[in-house]
Amino acid sequence: MGRLILLGLAVLILVWLVRRALHSRKGGAAQPPGTPGELVSCAHCGVHLPRAEARAADTGLYCSEEHARLGPRRP
Ligand SMILES: [Zn+2]
Repeated sequence: MGRLILLGLAVLILVWLVRRALHSRKGGAAQPPGTPGELVSCAHCGVHLPRAEARAADTGLYCSEEHARLGPRRP
C-alpha cells in the first residue's frame, strides 16, 4: 500500500515538472515576469484585478460575486 502512494506521488511530481517546463517555455519570452496580464476595474468598487479573476455580469466586470450581485455603484 505504501508503495502505491509513493508511486502516485512520483507520478504527480513528474507531471508537475513537465507542466512547469512547458509553461515556462511558452509564456516566458512573451510576457515579462511579474506581469499579471490585462487589468480591469470592478464596476462597483473600482479595484483593479486581472481579467482572468474578474466576474463578468450583464452590467460589467466585478471583483467578486458579491459586487456582481450588487451591480454598478450609483453616484
Ligand atoms: Zn468590487
